[in-house]
Amino acid sequence: MKAIVVGAGFGGLTAAAGLHQRGWEVVVVERASQLRPVGSGLAVAPNGLRALDALGVGDAVRKLAAFQGDAAVSRPDGRVIARTAGKAMIRRFGDAVIPATRSSVMDVLVGLLPPETFRLGVTAQGVEAGDSTRRPCLLTGSAVIEADLIVAADGVNSSLRRALFPEHQGAVYSGITAWRLLVPTPAGDFLPGEVWGGGQVFGITPLADGRTYAYAADYAEAGITYPNEKAELTRRFGAWHFPIPELIEAAAPETILHNDIYEMAEPLPAYHRGAVAILGDAAHAMTPHLGQGANQAMEDGVTLAALVGSAKSSVEVASGLAQYTALRAPRGADMVRRSHRMGALTQSTSRPKEALRNLGMGLAARLVPDLVLRAMDPVVAWRPPQ
Ligand SMILES: Cc1cc2nc3c(=O)[nH]c(=O)nc-3n(C[C@H](O)[C@H](O)[C@H](O)COP(=O)(O)OP(=O)(O)OC[C@H]3O[C@@H](n4cnc5c(N)ncnc54)[C@H](O)[C@@H]3O)c2cc1C
Repeated sequence: MKAIVVGAGFGGLTAAAGLHQRGWEVVVVERASQLRPVGSGLAVAPNGLRALDALGVGDAVRKLAAFQGDAAVSRPDGRVIARTAGKAMIRRFGDAVIPATRSSVMDVLVGLLPPETFRLGVTAQGVEAGDSTRRPCLLTGSAVIEADLIVAADGVNSSLRRALFPEHQGAVYSGITAWRLLVPTPAGDFLPGEVWGGGQVFGITPLADGRTYAYAADYAEAGITYPNEKAELTRRFGAWHFPIPELIEAAAPETILHNDIYEMAEPLPAYHRGAVAILGDAAHAMTPHLGQGANQAMEDGVTLAALVGSAKSSVEVASGLAQYTALRAPRGADMVRRSHRMGALTQSTSRPKEALRNLGMGLAARLVPDLVLRAMDPVVAWRPPQ
């Protein structure tokens, strides 16, 4: 059986590795000329680690962890709103969240595939979904490639999604814009975690290699870029507590990533058409407030490979894809909604709501320490299908 996977992001690589491990011939078509992930850091959650375990590489990613200790949500002036304990998370879910560079996690996934799998610098330009009489095929500028399965893992602006679901509105602007930095960790004591205030958020994640992955999010009109992104970050966050001004100051301006956040407000009606599966951001782009986009993409990839990987005919592929949609479409839609709700809570612009939120979170963390973790059950307690 042959699969073509379009897109070498976390979703595409996971699906490709899972199918390859089940004996499929796999081709990964990637428009970039090098396998280099967009973005700097990534939080791999316990559900993502279980997806990686299904491919046999969970421990390779666990080893990348810098800390599994305490983290905190605090206010811009440094007062702590609530703490989360890494040990309590490990007790409940078997793992803590593993902060890592994107490239280190991607290297682990790329290592699962033979080098000849990749067709780099090739852009998919269209797809025909196939039916009971015709195999699906992928159109690139220079070729039409047939396969038994095509996987559309081409990210938030997916052109394959537009071809498969032309009636769908696609991903819409969430109103939030985000910056990402990877800088040397400043000297001094600070707690990893997030800082929330006035509709803005700043995340601080030290990594094992002596650097810190930091991200910031705020409201802005769609499409705005700033001539000096570093000055803009300083304007918005420069008065926040240590080490935020220091992290911004340490960033080389040309390395600061700035992206508007798009989300799939309207869910897709299915996660397949004919013999083409869709996964990751292409299927369910979500805001980053739950840190789940890549984790969900990896869940998709592993689930798809488990459900379709044993197929020996187009009929069996069709049956596996129907199960894939049944399992993944409700979960993807739920994660988009949860991330959006989390964003509204994190980035509340109403002072009274913000005060109530901080008070409620502080009380809950003191009186029912397990409450925050329990609330994460539907997100991170996921297990791959057998
Ligand atoms: C600020 C921020 C922080 C985030 N933090 C986290 C986090 O901590 N944890 C987490 O789980 N998620 C996080 N995410 C979300 C995460 O980055 C994405 O959800 C994830 O990368 C999606 O993976 P993917 O494989 O679906 O798509 P992508 O990673 O976007 O990969 C798509 C690939 O397809 C290729 N491609 C596109 N079009 C074509 C074409 N026509 N032909 C060939 N190739 C094509 C692209 O070049 C790309 O390589 C964050 C996102 C943002 C913006």
